[in-house]
Amino acid sequence: MSKKTTQMQGNYIKWLGSLSDKQFAEFFYKAVQNRKTSDVQEENGYYVLSHIRKNEEEMWERDDIALHSPQEYPEGWGDDVPICQFGTCLECETSISSWAKHAICPICDNKVYCT
Ligand SMILES: [Zn+2]
Repeated sequence: MSKKTTQMQGNYIKWLGSLSDKQFAEFFYKAVQNRKTSDVQEENGYYVLSHIRKNEEEMWERDDIALHSPQEYPEGWGDDVPICQFGTCLECETSISSWAKHAICPICDNKVYCT
């Protein structure tokens, strides 16, 4: 890797580190929206952003970060809101976390209500 590439990566990493959690999630989904994870078209694979944490029983729990529903919030959201809403997609049963009570499942695009 060239010195210039290493320097650019450092700048990107610094910029990513400066983003709020919501800004990082929105950036991630924009960055990967056209990126496929396989050459096998039928797989339809793509990336999602997940959040993991240990629960009271020291077991890992994972939920996928969901963007807010633009239909429910046409005015958008501030950038500094915490990701503290949780729910389960009724369509695909994915555990979701978001900054909004009305979110869009990153797996199946179904609306998810979080609490
Ligand atoms: Zn879903």
